[in-house]
Amino acid sequence: MKNQYLLSVFCCVLLLQGCSATSHIIGKPAPGKASSSVEMERLIEVPGPIQLETINSADWSASLAGLLNLDSPAAKQAGLKDRDEPIQVYAHVLKHPKFGNFLVDTGVSQKLVDDPGKAGVNWLIQKVMHIEKMHIEKSTAQILQGLDGKLSGVFLTHLHLDHISGMPDIPDDVPLYIGATESSASSFKNMFTRSTSNQMLEGKLPLQEWNFQPDQQNKFEGIVDVFEDGSVFAISVPGHTAGSVVFLVRTTHGPVLLTGDTCHTRWGWEHTVEPGDFTDDNARNLLNLKRLKNLVAEHPQIEVRLGHQL
Ligand SMILES: [Zn+2]
Repeated sequence: MKNQYLLSVFCCVLLLQGCSATSHIIGKPAPGKASSSVEMERLIEVPGPIQLETINSADWSASLAGLLNLDSPAAKQAGLKDRDEPIQVYAHVLKHPKFGNFLVDTGVSQKLVDDPGKAGVNWLIQKVMHIEKMHIEKSTAQILQGLDGKLSGVFLTHLHLDHISGMPDIPDDVPLYIGATESSASSFKNMFTRSTSNQMLEGKLPLQEWNFQPDQQNKFEGIVDVFEDGSVFAISVPGHTAGSVVFLVRTTHGPVLLTGDTCHTRWGWEHTVEPGDFTDDNARNLLNLKRLKNLVAEHPQIEVRLGHQL
C-alpha cells in the first residue's frame, strides 16, 4: 500500500514537472555576437543584403482555441468561438551573399504526410496534430532542390513538431540553431511530443543555442547579430515555448520580421492577442508579442510574416 502511494506521488511529480522537448544533444553555442535593440534599430531602415522567400510548404488547419487565446478580452468582444481555422506551414529561404542558404523553420516533408509512423510521429501525435489535414504545396525536399547551392543551416523559431516537420528531408550534416533552453526546459506538453521530436532529430547534428545577453535598453530579452554583419537578428521571445526566437531580416526589399508562433494568426497580430492552448506561458508570450508590435509601430516599414498566416 505504501509502495503504491509512493508510486502515485512519484507519477504526479513527473506529470507536474513535465520533461524537456528533446533529449537530442546540445553542441557548441551558435555563432553570432550579442547585440542590442539600439544596434538593431539603428540599421532597420537601411536596406540589407539578404534575399528572403517565404514558401507555403503545406496547407493545414488547427483549432482556433489553440491558435488564439479565446479568453482574451478582444476575442470575447469579437465573439470568437472555437472552430477549425485554415493555416499554412511555412519555410523561409534566406540567402546571404557570403554565407549561403539557410532555412527559418523547415516546412513539411512528403514522407511525414505519406507515412507519419515511419517518419517517427507516434499515433497519439498523428491524431492530435491531424496530420491527415496537411496538404503539401511544396515539400521540404522540393524547396531544397530549388536552392542555388547547398543548405548551410536551419534557424528554428522553436521545436514544435510543425516547425521540425521537414526534418526527414534535411541532410544530416546541416547545422541546426535554436533558442536558449528551448530543448532543455521542462513542459507538461513535452511529455507527449518528446519521443516524436527525438525521432525527427535522430542522426542530426547537435543543436546549437544562440547566446543571448540582456538587452541594455530592456526592449527585448536578448538579441544576437547572427552573421555579425547586422543583416539578420535573432530575438529571444520566450513564452510560446521556453526558447522561442523571432528573426528580423534586413532584405534587399527592406526589413522583414518572422514572428514564428509568438503570433500564429493575422487576427492575433492585429488585435494583440497571443496564441491559446498551443502556448506554454500566455502572459510572457503576450508581453513579447507587445514588444514586437512596439518595434513595428516604431519602424512601420517592417513587413510582418506571422507563424501560420501571412
Ligand atoms: Zn506552429
